[in-house]
Amino acid sequence: MRKCIHIDMDCFYAAVEEREQPELCGLPVAVGGSSRRGVICAANYEARKYGVRSAMPGFKAVKLCPQLIMLPVRFDLYRAESVKIRAIFGRFTELIEPLSLDEAYLDVSHWQSSASAIAREVRAQIFEETGLRASAGIAPNKMLAKIASDWNKPNGQFEVKVEEIDVFMRELPVAKLWGVGKRMQEKLTRIGVQTCGDLQKLDKFEMSRRFGKWGMELYRLCRGCDEREVKPHRSRKSISKENTFTEDVRNSAELLPVIQRMQEQISELLQRRYGDRQVRALVVKLKFSDFTRTTAESAHTQMSDEVFRVLLEEAWSRGGGKSVRLCGIGVRLMDEKDDPQLEMF
Ligand SMILES: [Mg+2]
Repeated sequence: MRKCIHIDMDCFYAAVEEREQPELCGLPVAVGGSSRRGVICAANYEARKYGVRSAMPGFKAVKLCPQLIMLPVRFDLYRAESVKIRAIFGRFTELIEPLSLDEAYLDVSHWQSSASAIAREVRAQIFEETGLRASAGIAPNKMLAKIASDWNKPNGQFEVKVEEIDVFMRELPVAKLWGVGKRMQEKLTRIGVQTCGDLQKLDKFEMSRRFGKWGMELYRLCRGCDEREVKPHRSRKSISKENTFTEDVRNSAELLPVIQRMQEQISELLQRRYGDRQVRALVVKLKFSDFTRTTAESAHTQMSDEVFRVLLEEAWSRGGGKSVRLCGIGVRLMDEKDDPQLEMF
């Protein structure tokens, strides 16, 4: 039987900043959103008490929590921490599948010891060596491990054992399932389905009649079955658009309308062809006048002008003043099904 662990760092960017500036401890802190139209990338628990959430515009966050401390995003710092954390994972298994800077799946099936004990040890080593807290989910498959890592957050862990899966799934809201986005959730609500238990009442025929091929997958997922393996070299599927300019662009502000246009094209394609696929990250790619290129990426489940703008700024700053000959944006998708028509970075 497979032993999966999903590790998720607690308020990662904000936690790194708090560690760097201990005087911030106990205060509501958010990363990002500093400019008037900027968006929050991460918020600590103190800030969350006021309703501050990531992907929320900064001005809205300040309205909710006037004493909120907003810090600029320092991706290099977070990336460096992420490298340290991945090195710790590597002491326990080679089967590591990172989802973002602060999240990964670990397959520890080869260990005799309990996966729960391993997760506790991984978290302890992370804390000892970085001062950062992580939560973990432990389960016989990836989907359940990811759901479980949310259960005792922050600084906690939760295990779903094989014999507990049935009971666990019955009460679980369908929105927690892999790939059930907003649209799918609306569809399900319309037919009176709120929990996985509700969904289990539909038979295979009914599922495929209503949801097509995806229905068969959903049939398995809502019973807690998920066969996907922890893939160390995960194939990264994206939908992307790019634009090469006839004349190099010297000012990042000129790229904003271009990005907006590409975003509309992607959004249309997403809705039309991939309505049930969930976005897991947004990407901005730049190619500079000397043909060097860079991509900036951030974990978000929805496209947003603000996130693309922050990513553009990040990528642009890496150019060190060079002008830009190509700009592209993309969304990375949660699902890993093969689709030859997907364009990739
Ligand atoms: Mg996290």
